[in-house]
Amino acid sequence: MQAQGQQVRYRSTRGSGPEATFDEALLRGPAEGGGLYVPVDLPPLGAGWREASSLADVALAVLPPFVGPAGAQAVAEALDFLVPLVSLGEEFVLELFHGPTAAFKDVGARSLARLMQAALEKTGGSATILVATSGDTGSAVADAFAGLDRIQVALLYPHGGVSRVQENQLTAARPGLRSFAVAGTFDDCQRMVKEAFADRSLAPLSLTSANSINIGRLLPQMLYYLWGAEQARRALGADEELTVVVPSGNLGNLTAGVMASRMGLTGLRFVAAHNSNDYFARYLVGDADPYEFSPSVTTLSNAMDVGAPSNFERLYSLLGDDLREAVTGESVDDEATLERMRLTYEQHGYLACPHTAVGLEAWARLSTRANRTGRAMILATAHPAKFPEAVKQATGVTPDTPPALAAFDSAPKSVERIEPTLESLRTALLDRPDFSA
Ligand SMILES: *Cc1c(COP(=O)(O)O)cnc(C)c1O
Repeated sequence: MQAQGQQVRYRSTRGSGPEATFDEALLRGPAEGGGLYVPVDLPPLGAGWREASSLADVALAVLPPFVGPAGAQAVAEALDFLVPLVSLGEEFVLELFHGPTAAFKDVGARSLARLMQAALEKTGGSATILVATSGDTGSAVADAFAGLDRIQVALLYPHGGVSRVQENQLTAARPGLRSFAVAGTFDDCQRMVKEAFADRSLAPLSLTSANSINIGRLLPQMLYYLWGAEQARRALGADEELTVVVPSGNLGNLTAGVMASRMGLTGLRFVAAHNSNDYFARYLVGDADPYEFSPSVTTLSNAMDVGAPSNFERLYSLLGDDLREAVTGESVDDEATLERMRLTYEQHGYLACPHTAVGLEAWARLSTRANRTGRAMILATAHPAKFPEAVKQATGVTPDTPPALAAFDSAPKSVERIEPTLESLRTALLDRPDFSA
């Protein structure tokens, strides 16, 4: 660990604006003058983290130079769920979906919420988180931020544009949370959020964003790479090369893994497993230029339907053309995803969600084609019960709903319908600015 006071500073990927402290980067979101924050340098790992007996312990050992001691404590409190490493034949699967909304977004969203609260405690301020969501991110954010002091949450989602499971999560009544069903599309929701940030009459609410470009969501995701690699090392009883397969969309997860390995977690190799939104896989083999993005297409693994991954900018800023050395890409279409779900169930009795199956299939191809040696750890990013239709279609089995998810079905709901205009959102927010019931 670094000495007290030697805190990591953050720079913009575009070299614009001054370097920032963690709290500045956290409360700002995007960097001044555009670009995203990345650490100026990555302090080498000490030894203590290997003795950790939980993800929270890893947070306390590794994060203080990045987020300060109070921040590390806040993250440790946020990560209060299990992250088990499961053996599947020769492979390991690291299950990241045992948080309250059953997807790995809980790691980043819960950490970000507690970090913001700790930062606001210092400044004495308060904030209103405003998010547009098409599903998973919104439920993780709503769950993570609701009920925290100094923070309230306004959630916008397209009415009729989310699944029933998702809508139950988005509208479950919670203190400090208001859910708005917008009579429009996800694009309308995003536009309204953008307009609201620019609207001076909403200044008293101190609007803040909680989307995935915030560095406070990314840093805690380094922890489970360390945790998983150490669990694998213990299971194998030796240091072996480990290939980490990351089901990827916006590339935040992969960026966190690359940062963890640059801190001195040696022997890791990375696979970016994409669905048919394959820009990054094409870039890695030289079939696309940096930032030559394509429009997104809809797939079964919808949380990875990203045409222009925003964290590409971070990866490129951290590694430049070495990216092609550090990461192998693979793209898996829906048909192959369903077939891998079926095979995984047949061979191991294991139900994988479509995102995880993209990772499993990517590794199955690479391990035969490229003569890969060593073991693989596939990151399992969502619980299969979040995608019951696809799981049933592939395997004939309906996955059991974990109790945390089932609770959303019967929870009391609270939702306000609004028109897809800034006017309509503004009126609703200013009518009840303290979000009291
Ligand atoms: C967000 C998400 C991903 C993709 O992660 P990125 O950090 O955007 O690459 C994969 N699987 C699930 C279930 C997700 O919710």
